[in-house]
Amino acid sequence: MGARGKFIVLSWRENMNPELYILGSSSATPTRERHPSAQILKIESEKILIDCGEGTQSQMIKFGIRHTGINTICISHLHGDHYFGLIGLISTMSLMGRAQSLTLIGPPGLKQIIELQIEQGGMSLRFELIFIDTRMDTSEKIYESDVFEIKTFPLKHRIHCTGFVITEKKKERNLNIECAKEFNVPISAYKEIKLGANFTNENGQIIGNEILTFDPPAPKTFAYCSDTIFDPSIVEFIKDCTLLYHEATYMKNMEDRAELYFHSTAEQAAKIAKLANAGHLVIGHFSSRYEHLGPLLEEAKSVFSKTSLAIEGEKHNVKIHNN
Ligand SMILES: [Zn+2]
Ligand SMILES: [Zn+2]
Repeated sequence: MGARGKFIVLSWRENMNPELYILGSSSATPTRERHPSAQILKIESEKILIDCGEGTQSQMIKFGIRHTGINTICISHLHGDHYFGLIGLISTMSLMGRAQSLTLIGPPGLKQIIELQIEQGGMSLRFELIFIDTRMDTSEKIYESDVFEIKTFPLKHRIHCTGFVITEKKKERNLNIECAKEFNVPISAYKEIKLGANFTNENGQIIGNEILTFDPPAPKTFAYCSDTIFDPSIVEFIKDCTLLYHEATYMKNMEDRAELYFHSTAEQAAKIAKLANAGHLVIGHFSSRYEHLGPLLEEAKSVFSKTSLAIEGEKHNVKIHNN
């Protein structure tokens, strides 16, 4: 799935599927190899930062990811390992002359914290911060851009916590050029036809859209299940997602501890992926007690074979998996 080391930025243009970049994979405390939670989902020219643990901007520098294109940041909850990097990143964006507004989607309370840090630090931002509060009483579509939409759903953790489902917008239909030429369709009509219109030629003959176009690729969906106890009730929100990220803080032999702290095991993450019929699963948020992650991967794979580890510096192609 991924390639270790610096992300190959050039491939963004070559690959039109969304891509997930892992910047942080650790739970509450960092280790020598792992940082707290942070991921970037790249869809066309947009980058959505999902959680922003301490060290996120250092990881971006290390792996060659620029701020450009980050206009939306989703914060799952206000445990520090999911947002302590946020004010640092906002500060750097301002120092680098950012002018474009930045949308921050997260729990109520995030606005107060960030605004207090800005105020007490005497910072004067050159761009607007737009805060959108997540809700725990319902799943909802919370945001959309030209190329994607974001839905939230409640997770069972110790504090207000939501997951995110990010879906590509449906693309235009693909024109069958050979066919269009055969029916003498003028180039000026291509745009309408790609949007689904039929074509009527000068003799009044109607050529159906299904003859002139091919189906566009199916929209891909990425589901992010941040810190959560094992909770099959979330399956309805993430059903049939193309790529699922689910936390796997512990292994099965620590299931009691996982339940006590409202976390999941690798096996439980895999059970959720199986129930949801996910295309592929990435597990992360590993406890610092695990130096080697192979056993967590094996445990998850015994339930759901299409599983990978969240390894910092690796990217995952959000594509339809056929096997
Ligand atoms: Zn956490
Ligand atoms: Zn947490």
